[in-house]
Formats: sequence, C-alpha cells, structure tokens
Amino acid sequence: MKVSRLPPGLEENLTVVEIGEKKICDFCNRTASYDAKTRFGYWAYMCGVCFKRYGIGLGLGRGQRLIVKNLSNIKANESE
Ligand SMILES: [Zn+2]
Repeated sequence: MKVSRLPPGLEENLTVVEIGEKKICDFCNRTASYDAKTRFGYWAYMCGVCFKRYGIGLGLGRGQRLIVKNLSNIKANESE
C-alpha cells in the first residue's frame, strides 16, 4: 500500500525540476520533458512519448518532469 505523508505542494516539488535550457531526449532526439529512470534501470532524458514507453513513473528515485524556466518565462511575460 502506498502511503504519502507529504503535503500536496511538496509532492509536486519533488516531481518537477526547473532547468535553464532545453534537454534532448536520449532515445529520439526530440525535446525532453522528463529526467527519469527507465525500465532498463538507468536514468535518461525523455520526451513525453519515450517516457510513456520507457519510464517507470515520477517521484523520488523514479523521475522528474522538466520545466524549462527561460522559455516559459519569456512566453508568460510577453507584454513587457
Ligand atoms: Zn523521445
């Protein structure tokens, strides 16, 4: 049985990591959306498609979703 003692906000922090530049999927060379453990046992950068195919999930010891900080900030602040 899975027991989570973490409050919702903290749990989210553990599964998302902000990065300053784009990463490339180790499997198909598209833009990576995840830094996560694969079913093969090693970690890799993965796009959404490859994460669904090879990833084992998100969380401590499993994987994190990548947020590219620079790009999203530029889009959010376009009115400046
Ligand atoms: Zn991929």
